[in-house]
Amino acid sequence: MRIRVLALAASVVWALTLVSAQNEPRQVSLVVTGGTVVTVDAAGRVIPAGAVAIDGTDIVAVDTAENIAKQFRGRDTINATGQIILPGLINTHTHAAMVLYRGLADDLALTEWLNKYIFPAEAKTVSPAFVRAGTRLAALEMIQSGTTTYADMYYFEEEVAAETKAAGLRGVLGQTIIQFPVADAKTPADGLLRAEAFIRAFKDDPLITPAVAPHAMYTLDGPTLKAARDLSRRHNVPTLIHLAETRDEVQAAQDRFKSSPVAYLDSLGFLGPGVLGAHGVWVSDADIAILKARGVGISHNPESNMKLASGTAPVPAYLRADVGIGLGTDGAASNNDLDMFEAMRVAALLHKHANVDPRALSARTALEMATIRGARALGMERRIGSLEPRKQADLITVSASGARQTPMYDPVSHLVYVMRGDDVRTTVVNGKVLMRDRKMLTLNESSVIAEGRAWIDKVRAAVK
Ligand SMILES: [Zn+2]
Repeated sequence: MRIRVLALAASVVWALTLVSAQNEPRQVSLVVTGGTVVTVDAAGRVIPAGAVAIDGTDIVAVDTAENIAKQFRGRDTINATGQIILPGLINTHTHAAMVLYRGLADDLALTEWLNKYIFPAEAKTVSPAFVRAGTRLAALEMIQSGTTTYADMYYFEEEVAAETKAAGLRGVLGQTIIQFPVADAKTPADGLLRAEAFIRAFKDDPLITPAVAPHAMYTLDGPTLKAARDLSRRHNVPTLIHLAETRDEVQAAQDRFKSSPVAYLDSLGFLGPGVLGAHGVWVSDADIAILKARGVGISHNPESNMKLASGTAPVPAYLRADVGIGLGTDGAASNNDLDMFEAMRVAALLHKHANVDPRALSARTALEMATIRGARALGMERRIGSLEPRKQADLITVSASGARQTPMYDPVSHLVYVMRGDDVRTTVVNGKVLMRDRKMLTLNESSVIAEGRAWIDKVRAAVK
């Protein structure tokens, strides 16, 4: 009898434990809750009063705030009431350290701008210290304006990587290969050696994807282009290249190879998955078909293209052909900022205007280009670009309750046509909070800005 009572008591205790275990919310590292969640998933799900549960580096659930509260308890909670919660923005093309040349020379065509200002300034000022200070300043600006992943093409890329990691950002960082002597390589062969060392150093890093960045078909000979591509294939890392940016580039390809830049690179066996072409302004339908067939991604940089008057990329044609196409700012010297909200808005307006068709690029597509389509262009769509369980926890929250944002009928419309980088409140990358309610947590804002300012005299002297 006594045994039966004990057995009964034990089973009651077991049942109660089971019930409480089922009701006990699972503890996770971070819950961002209360805002309108714009997931940018395949269904385009928007959740008013939603929440995102994050554990460690990954998203574990995206649901209504009520359902998330039932299932999860965050060791840390961010209240995003009155805000929009969305995937962090992906800048598919920039030269981060070039923020130190911001506004140095404006209102010039690309060739003159490059040859008279940018290349001479780079020859005299680019150094590890310059790249460190510039990348820190760019990282500060990117975190403050909601960029969580960026693709970079520059020199001393190991310094870029160190600063990117310290800031907590995700980067696809391409070591530049160029035919003429530059600060970090006397010859393209030196550049290739440096790129290989860089790849080995950062191959398995959780935040950094090392890449090879042959500058462009017009600044490199065929054997070097092939060698750069072979290097990236050997290590299975991305290749970043400027592609068909200006009419001059198309003319150079015609004169030298009787071919378009795209067809020329294809004839070298250069094109394939893992290649990201920046700009892709001057391409024919045949070029677009080649890019699609080879699985090449494109980075569209509307502000840089407009400012340098390079031309208008045929974005609707890329979209119709289902080429992976993301948005980029290009370097701050030709933009002149790294605000991806501005890039979204300018892209949407530019293609409506150029095509005399308000449907040419919708707000939804512009937002996708800054998130999931950008991830696809970089070959990272399984890891980032939308708010979905099992993806890496890169998200931002954006204020949606100020005068400029009121009223809000459609959060996607507001993100593209109303919001600015300054509206970003909180930035999370890989589950780590980098900025919380505008307070920087990984960078010292005032000292980073002071360091950037300290370069003015040296840069000015370099182009005198
Ligand atoms: Zn560029």
